[in-house]
Amino acid sequence: MDFSIAPHHQLLISEMETFARSELQDDVVARDSTGTFPMDWWHKCAQHGIQGMASVSPYGGSSPELDLLGSMMAIQALGRTCKDAGFLLALNAQMWTVQIPILHFGTEEQKERFLKPLATGLKIGVHALTEPDAGSDIFSMQTTATKVNGGYLLNGVKRFITLGPLADIALVFASTNLELGQWGISAFLVETDSPGLTKGPVLEKMGLRTVPFSELTMTECFVPTENRLGKEGVGFSICHSSLEYDRCCMLAGKLGAMERQLDDAIQYAQQRRQGGKAIGKYQAVSHRIADMKLRIESSKLLLYKVAWCKSNGQNAPLEAALVKLQLSESFLQNSLDAIRTMGGNGYLKEYEVERDLRDSVGGILYAGTSDVQRNIISKLLGL
Ligand SMILES: Cc1cc2nc3c(=O)[nH]c(=O)nc-3n(C[C@H](O)[C@H](O)[C@H](O)COP(=O)(O)OP(=O)(O)OC[C@H]3O[C@@H](n4cnc5c(N)ncnc54)[C@H](O)[C@@H]3O)c2cc1C
Repeated sequence: MDFSIAPHHQLLISEMETFARSELQDDVVARDSTGTFPMDWWHKCAQHGIQGMASVSPYGGSSPELDLLGSMMAIQALGRTCKDAGFLLALNAQMWTVQIPILHFGTEEQKERFLKPLATGLKIGVHALTEPDAGSDIFSMQTTATKVNGGYLLNGVKRFITLGPLADIALVFASTNLELGQWGISAFLVETDSPGLTKGPVLEKMGLRTVPFSELTMTECFVPTENRLGKEGVGFSICHSSLEYDRCCMLAGKLGAMERQLDDAIQYAQQRRQGGKAIGKYQAVSHRIADMKLRIESSKLLLYKVAWCKSNGQNAPLEAALVKLQLSESFLQNSLDAIRTMGGNGYLKEYEVERDLRDSVGGILYAGTSDVQRNIISKLLGL
């Protein structure tokens, strides 16, 4: 087993770090307070080929094949260097839950019309799955798609939609036959200027405040047949396939953020003196930092394993659930430990770890809560 990083991946990592260090820096504390999304960064990232990493040429990607391991390492590098977790969630939400389903299930025409503008940063796409009464039990969704001449009429409400207020294209899951349950669900690419689609107001939230969320409501919203992604009834498969990418790729940035946090915690523990010595010399502090390192390394191995499985054409539902659970819970715990290390300073906005803690909570909820990941893992273990 070879754990070394290939030279072309090492190059990609340093390119990403250089890019993020020069272009993705500003006063995140201030933007977090006002809940402001950095739209100029979105375009800079697209020019740098970041959204294109979840596509292939000629649809805005730089090569004819995905390089998932390279993409994970690149996003990890972004998370290490760019402090805006909300912005990274926005990028990842579009890339892995909108672009990948179009890449895998779209027609050539759909890839040209929808994937290319997303991968090149011209448009913003959102994944519209959750509903007010369908969260963890997602396939009990009540949004309907009724067949009419030339297309479908969509009716229903989608909730907690990352980037909802800024969306140009929504990948909407809806049932063409509620009686069929999960087998009645289909996926639709809905342009958000379609009559009958309305965006709700921006939802105020605890963390990830730099990316706006909203509801999307569809009332007799007409979607032409050519905008259906895949065949009727394959929404369940599309959803499952994208969730596997979602569960590993969405969190790669958080791995990078944990590495940055660890460096800061070590530096703080070396410099802060109490009782005549650096606090890092107290075992209570140093052991806490040792645990932070352990969580990072175990998360990293799981993440790279999923990327490797997917790159080699293997399904990895167990590994994807394991990494989602381990990485999201680790970021939460490490954020709390970083605050403990910094004492009262860690509680202040300017030290930026209180924001990490608020941002980390979203990770244990989206793409299936930690309880749901444990359900998946235990089911796949035959329980
Ligand atoms: C930051 C963030 C971003 C999001 N972005 C999007 C997005 O872009 N698009 C989108 O469609 N959705 C998005 N969501 C929604 C997200 O996927 C749901 O919040 C999530 O699936 C949980 O659903 P729920 O909130 O309805 O909670 P519920 O399903 O009501 O769960 C409430 C509690 O009950 C537990 N629970 C429920 N069922 C079970 C069970 N069977 N076994 C054990 N425990 C159970 C849960 O673990 C949880 O603790 C986002 C959410 C967040 C927080």
